[in-house]
Amino acid sequence: MMRKLERSKYTSSSAASGCCKTLSRRSVIVQNIAEAERVGKKGKPVKDTASALPELMSKVRSVVGKSATSDLTARDLYNALAYSTRDGLIERFNKTHEHWAAKDSKFVYYLSAEFLMGRTLTNAVYNLGMEGKYAEALRSLGYDMETIQEQERDASLGNGGLGRLAACFLDSMANIDLPGWGYGIRYKYGMFKQALDKGGYQKELPDIWLTDGNPWEVKRSEIKYEVCFGGRTEKKTVNGKEVSVWEPNQRVYAQAYDNPIPGFQTPTVGNLRLWDALPVTEFDLAAFNAGDYDKSMLEKEKAECIVAVLYPNDATPEGKELRLKQQYFFVAASMQDVLTRFKAKHGSKWDLLPTKAVFQMNDTHPTIAVAEAMRLLVDVEGLPWEQAWSISSKMLNYTNHTVMPEALEKWPVKVMAKMLPRHMEIIEIINEGWIQWLQSNLPGTAAEKAAKVAAMSIVHENQWNKDELLVNMAYLAVVGSAHVNGVAAIHSDIVKNEIFNDFYKIFPNKFQNKTNGVTPRRWLAWCNPELATLITKTLGSDAWINNAELLSGLRKFASDKNFQSQWRAVKQQRKAKLAAMIKSQTGDDIDINNMFDIQVKRIHEYKRQYMNVLGIIWRYKQLKKMTPAERKASVPRVCMIGGKAASAYDMAKRIIRLVTAVGAKINNDPDTKDYLRLYFLPDYNVSLAEALIPAAELSQHISTGGTEASGTSNMKFQMNGCLIIGTWDGANIEIAEETGVENVFVFGVRAEEINQLRKERANYKTDPRFNEIMNDIAGGMFGDKEYFKPLVDSISNMKVGNDWFLVANDFAAYLDAQEEVDKVYKDPEEWTRRSIMYTAGSGKFSSDRTIREYAEDIWDIKPERPLA
Ligand SMILES: *Cc1c(COP(=O)(O)O)cnc(C)c1O
Repeated sequence: MMRKLERSKYTSSSAASGCCKTLSRRSVIVQNIAEAERVGKKGKPVKDTASALPELMSKVRSVVGKSATSDLTARDLYNALAYSTRDGLIERFNKTHEHWAAKDSKFVYYLSAEFLMGRTLTNAVYNLGMEGKYAEALRSLGYDMETIQEQERDASLGNGGLGRLAACFLDSMANIDLPGWGYGIRYKYGMFKQALDKGGYQKELPDIWLTDGNPWEVKRSEIKYEVCFGGRTEKKTVNGKEVSVWEPNQRVYAQAYDNPIPGFQTPTVGNLRLWDALPVTEFDLAAFNAGDYDKSMLEKEKAECIVAVLYPNDATPEGKELRLKQQYFFVAASMQDVLTRFKAKHGSKWDLLPTKAVFQMNDTHPTIAVAEAMRLLVDVEGLPWEQAWSISSKMLNYTNHTVMPEALEKWPVKVMAKMLPRHMEIIEIINEGWIQWLQSNLPGTAAEKAAKVAAMSIVHENQWNKDELLVNMAYLAVVGSAHVNGVAAIHSDIVKNEIFNDFYKIFPNKFQNKTNGVTPRRWLAWCNPELATLITKTLGSDAWINNAELLSGLRKFASDKNFQSQWRAVKQQRKAKLAAMIKSQTGDDIDINNMFDIQVKRIHEYKRQYMNVLGIIWRYKQLKKMTPAERKASVPRVCMIGGKAASAYDMAKRIIRLVTAVGAKINNDPDTKDYLRLYFLPDYNVSLAEALIPAAELSQHISTGGTEASGTSNMKFQMNGCLIIGTWDGANIEIAEETGVENVFVFGVRAEEINQLRKERANYKTDPRFNEIMNDIAGGMFGDKEYFKPLVDSISNMKVGNDWFLVANDFAAYLDAQEEVDKVYKDPEEWTRRSIMYTAGSGKFSSDRTIREYAEDIWDIKPERPLA
């Protein structure tokens, strides 16, 4: 009775505001629902907007289990909205896959240990074109899309760029109607959640992203494969042939979960199939009844361990084994899945397989696919070795992502033989064939040949421990693949001329470049609707969203004063939004007229966040020396650094602590805090990137020349009109070419110089400013001097191999480039002109372009759009 009274009291008021927010909201709901249902009953065609309310409320009842008059939380509405969107996705998913099946289309399977998907809701709602409809419904419930979207946890099934690339590629595949799936692991805990402890050090917390359920996945209970590990092989005679039979000692099931991937303005919905691990026997009842409760659950726990976390710390032998296990687990499940579908259609016409399926191996993590394909075709399907090799080596392709020697995976033969004894035999057979081929095809004397053979053998000695043999996974991938590619022009040259030069000389046609890209949907249109609206208005259509080359149409407005002021207004809006976020996290007020200078990426010595901090220290020291009037004339900056350090990467963790220590000093110094701030933004992930990038004015991509394969955040910043200070490295080079080199702050040593400079580094005469700052840190200016000592020593106390990433060599040039940045920032028209030129030049870096190139040059797959 009471409730009813209250309701009627508030129903008459149309403005829901002030204290009794829930009550008002509830009453508004009731009113709006009644209205929506009345309109529905009259049989009027419901308009595309304002018509999603009944649908949403139906999900509130059926999924959330509440009624319209309950207090609906943001989480409830997130679930209702997600399940409503999911219905749309699944309908299109089914149509797409029925169509592709009817056409018997050739598929690409993107094998990746990582998919850094981020959130799904906004992307799905926008891609399905339902944003207006849902926004209106939410508004009538007193919520906005942004609040609701905040309810979703990121799917952080990746470390960084490589995993995000896989996610952008899936988006583009769906977008251009390319038949294909991603295959990966449904990690129970994604990458760790990063926090800072009281002292300002990184703290790693488990990322429990699945606890509250995941509306975006569809469990395929019937799709399950056995994956085996360990045991031994035995020689047996079958039909008069001697064969090797694998008798494993662990079996688990791989269980399929599908994650629909929508395209934009197309009915196509692609798929990311992720594997969970299940025990073959869920529960040992006999053990339980005998009182051995631990044993009763043992098998389940052992299975679940395989998919528990992304890249367990592999500093321990157990960690190494687990990582190999994960790699084999998802590769074996995926290949069985593909072969099962092929057989259902084509029986044993195996020679057709490469015309129906190609695989792209995202780095060396899935390289065990080379051996698994041979095992399945030879041991399971009974094909002769040569026929199987011909099929397998046509289907597989390999993308290299790094020049860092420590990241090129090599598994000890011992570990491989223990975990995958049959695969180790297969790799040995492949290697024998490879060596024989080399011996009969290489030119030169016997000694020259022997040296080359030793250098190119897939199985080789560990250079640090002559007693250990290693399987070089990159060599296995190169030998077993039809195509090998790098991810930016400069990197592909390094792949050809350095890392795999011996192989390149033998198979020049195997090697290609595929410059990375990012999806302009997530990274411009959806994350920066303010800018997207301005672009669409200016270009007269939103066609640029699916054809990013059209962004070049902005060039002719770059110097238009009126357009420039609209462009700046959008940036200010996004800076204000970010400032509010920082205020809520730190309590600090930030002046949005100050330059927002951002560096976000994994923390690594080669990415040189360290150099950024040294530059900030120098700036701080200069400010301290200035008179108040001089300070007022300076260019004030808010610097932000974010990124996770690998849990075993000690030096990276020290860099984070240096950022927080320097930040604490600068931000609290009354002389300087109006002119310089430094914030470490914890838990950098896709969602945080979506908030930061539109607000950035300057972003830093300052890896040592020749060390960053491509980078992709540079492309995201470029799309959002953020100027770049960067080295002549990775995709920075191509970005500069598209933007106009004169618009980019380029500095530093070049790839071709670094080998020589590294040799001479010990005798390099360091800049006095560099020396001064090293002394400041070592002397305790920022506290924690013992903890910072290894950091200081790593670049200043010269031993062979110190300052490997040449911070000292580049420091002076970096400071000069930063001075140039300040100079240009003082001229808002010039700065804005450049900003527009960045976005206008970003068309090439749409992953749609990248995927089209893969489809044409590597996969030989044509787009195939289902009927709407
Ligand atoms: C794009 C992206 C990366 C890659 O950044 P780089 O600067 O290219 O290394 C890493 N993490 C997240 C969350 C990203 O969105």
